Amino acid sequence: MPIPHNPPIGAQLELPFAPLTANPVVTTRAVLDGQPVDYLLHRSHGRRRISLSVDERGLRVGAPLRASLREIESVLHDHARWVIRKLADWRERRAPARRWESGETLTYLGLPLTLDVARGPRSVDRTPGQLRVRAPDTSAPAVAALAVHWLRGQALDHFHQRIEQFRTRVTLDPIAIRLSNARSRWGSCHASGRISLNWRLIHMPQHLIDYVLVHELAHLREMNHSPRFWAVVGGVIPDYAARRREIRRESHRYLVD
Ligand SMILES: [Zn+2]
Repeated sequence: MPIPHNPPIGAQLELPFAPLTANPVVTTRAVLDGQPVDYLLHRSHGRRRISLSVDERGLRVGAPLRASLREIESVLHDHARWVIRKLADWRERRAPARRWESGETLTYLGLPLTLDVARGPRSVDRTPGQLRVRAPDTSAPAVAALAVHWLRGQALDHFHQRIEQFRTRVTLDPIAIRLSNARSRWGSCHASGRISLNWRLIHMPQHLIDYVLVHELAHLREMNHSPRFWAVVGGVIPDYAARRREIRRESHRYLVD
């Protein structure tokens, strides 16, 4: 077993919802009409002009290699209204607001659970195909608070169990797991050995959760996305590339709550 490579303390890598492509892509922030807007900036040789696109992964900007940030920002400002409107459409499509009422479904480990909400002493139970929530107050915020608290507890237990399965194949160091509530990433890894994981991963099928866990674990060995890093991931999950594509395609479905 090779000795784990220790990256400098303070280094941190994140697994964004839209993973990096083979070409250099950087996340950049602009302020449009007073709102911070993050975008993926993709520079390439062949490109002659600056292009903007918005899809379920957010705003992407394509630019020639030599375009300055100033030129790029000026194009963004010229199209600020369009960008903001498209992003708002996208957010609505991505996350239909949950009403936290009986009959609604939520996904748990990739399988549907139908919500059953009624007045009663506070409790949350999962039965096959159902999530029963009992609360003295059955308003949406009260039910949401109880159900999300339960989901977070399940997520933490589940992540601990799965990480124990993989950990020794990547590192012998102990690992601390923290749950995150980020809207823009599934996981991140800190050089101190701490991993932050989005609790909403619990909505995903097992094979996609495992991909995120192993990806973040692998960063404890390689704080980068080099071929060495992917070799560590592939040593645990040989079909990681297919899972990565699936997460990129499907992740917006799991961002409800
Ligand atoms: Zn990563």
